[in-house]
Amino acid sequence: MSFEVRAHLVGAGRVVAVDLRADATDADAATARELRDALLGILRAHVGCDEGVAMVAESEAHLQRAALRFPVTTVVTAQGCEQHPTGTGVDRSFSHLLSAFADLASRGAWPRVKVCKNDTCYTAFLDKTRNSSALYCSMACSGQMAIRAYRERKKECAAR
Ligand SMILES: [Zn+2]
Repeated sequence: MSFEVRAHLVGAGRVVAVDLRADATDADAATARELRDALLGILRAHVGCDEGVAMVAESEAHLQRAALRFPVTTVVTAQGCEQHPTGTGVDRSFSHLLSAFADLASRGAWPRVKVCKNDTCYTAFLDKTRNSSALYCSMACSGQMAIRAYRERKKECAAR
């Protein structure tokens, strides 16, 4: 089976891309989907989405189990400390993803990694606002949600 999963994480000007290709099995694809879903739970909580907040404990537990399965190693140098992926093949890609999370967290950027609050958009983004208040990935999604809210208010007024 061949499939591709790409994850881009941007932290402090650094982009981490994780590719799963070629030798991936059905089990790898299932693992990738489970990691994605757990990550979505955390990132939705970062935008205050009720569904995300309700999923946090389950998502954290899943990601902690994943960290045991796809460990990272700490590399200490005179310049600093970094988490590096371990393993080979697809397992290394999962480990790379988890090391990218640790990197973002060590830079204080983890709460700023969010998923768009527009429920028809699953785009993850790095919130670069001064007060960490961004809820949408783009002006397009923000505008779409504002129009949706306006229509809902209009419908409520018409129903009264
Ligand atoms: Zn969006």
